[in-house]
Amino acid sequence: MTSPTEGTARSELELPRDEMLALARQAAELIVHRIEHLAYEPAWKGGTRAEMEALLREPPPEEGRSAAEVLERAATQILPVASRVDHPRFFAFVPGSATWPGVLADFLCAGHNTFQGTWLGASGPSQVEVVVLDWFRDWIGYPATASGLFTSGGSAASLDAFVAAREAAGAPQRATVYMSDQSHSALSRAATIVGIRAEHVRKVKSDDFYRMDMRELARMVAEDRAAGMHPIAVCGNGGATNTGAVDPLDAMADFCAADRLWFHVDAAYGGFAVLTEKGRRVLKGLERADSIAMDAHKWLFQPFEAGCLMVRDVRRLESAFAVQPEYLQDAQLGHEQPNFSDRGLQLTRSFRALKVWMSIQTFGLAAFRRTVAKGIQLAEEAEEYVLASEILEIANPASLGIVCFRFNPRNSGYSHEFLERINKAIQARVIGTGTAMMSSTRLRGAYSLRFCILNHHTTWQDVLGTLQAIERFGLEAVASTTK
Ligand SMILES: *Cc1c(COP(=O)(O)O)cnc(C)c1O
Repeated sequence: MTSPTEGTARSELELPRDEMLALARQAAELIVHRIEHLAYEPAWKGGTRAEMEALLREPPPEEGRSAAEVLERAATQILPVASRVDHPRFFAFVPGSATWPGVLADFLCAGHNTFQGTWLGASGPSQVEVVVLDWFRDWIGYPATASGLFTSGGSAASLDAFVAAREAAGAPQRATVYMSDQSHSALSRAATIVGIRAEHVRKVKSDDFYRMDMRELARMVAEDRAAGMHPIAVCGNGGATNTGAVDPLDAMADFCAADRLWFHVDAAYGGFAVLTEKGRRVLKGLERADSIAMDAHKWLFQPFEAGCLMVRDVRRLESAFAVQPEYLQDAQLGHEQPNFSDRGLQLTRSFRALKVWMSIQTFGLAAFRRTVAKGIQLAEEAEEYVLASEILEIANPASLGIVCFRFNPRNSGYSHEFLERINKAIQARVIGTGTAMMSSTRLRGAYSLRFCILNHHTTWQDVLGTLQAIERFGLEAVASTTK
């Protein structure tokens, strides 16, 4: 039997079957090799614009080249010159480590070019998105009315949430929104996009543990109302990126219910901690939010992009977004057959839910629960190590996989400026030697090192080795510096 394409004229943009398969095999080999060797590579590789220009500036070739060479070049010259956010010792920002079924799901979706905007366009994929969102709903403890959509990420999810909040409030003039001074910059940007002036994005002071100060929130909302402003939404952190802090979600839900405000929780990185007992305890009150942003490409181990917005009553999302132009009239199949394009910005959407579905089908939910729990625990063990160390000092206790600390030997009496200099030198050396990738932050004005431990590959040895290197680098930096 011959394959359907054999003998028929191929388009100019097609490859022969055998070459297609060989290339796919080559790509798979490259990726698997990378996964196997990642731990032995530095966690970060980058270059200046000038270096990248020299390597990659060229006009598009008028005639094609060998596909295998093109692929090889992408794999050797382009893709590796980047942060390895999935490296077991990538502790900076928010790491992301994909699972292989998730990677394959993206490949399969691209191969099928799934149009996940309408039920008519993709019934099977739409049903899987419905099912996966129902899983999330149950994990959160949301009611049956809840659903949402997959988005590019937490930024897009929060933007969609703000649109729903604004419409629920009747799209008032002089709208204000409230978030803590620890909230992610994505929320400020989302507010700007929905037309809330930067000066109307209220940053509420956080307390000693970086949680929203509820009295301050109440005061600001009351003041704004008295001044003729129109408060529409309050945003809580379900794991602030800086410290892992979780806002007092129950108290915020009470406040928003009494004040008729939309309660949005940014749980972009921390949300999937609800899969664990500890996470559910820490995130108590999350289930009372009107909307929640969660990134499956963070703590649910999916390749980018896999954000998600969950809304307690999905009709409020649809009433904000649904528009029904004539040219899409065939796609209106009734409420039972939702069109995901009616829940957010995108019409043409990729089928992101498949990666979650395939990963969980493959490994089982229990494996995900244990892996998320391991991240929480590794950060707690790092905290214990720091507390026991004579050389390191906790800057903020471990919370949802994040712990902040700095080099500051006990009774050292070093000045803030000196400590900042040493800690910066430590960070530079940790990165420069390829020991690990680590970012810093500023807590109550003091420079602090920060670990975010969400990677399913990361072991205690990775964490311990980096902590020990930090101690050593710190002592050596002190020895080689004049105070
Ligand atoms: C990562 C993150 C965001 C931004 O999400 P993207 O997926 O990068 O768009 C927003 N808030 C928090 C708390 C995050 O961790």
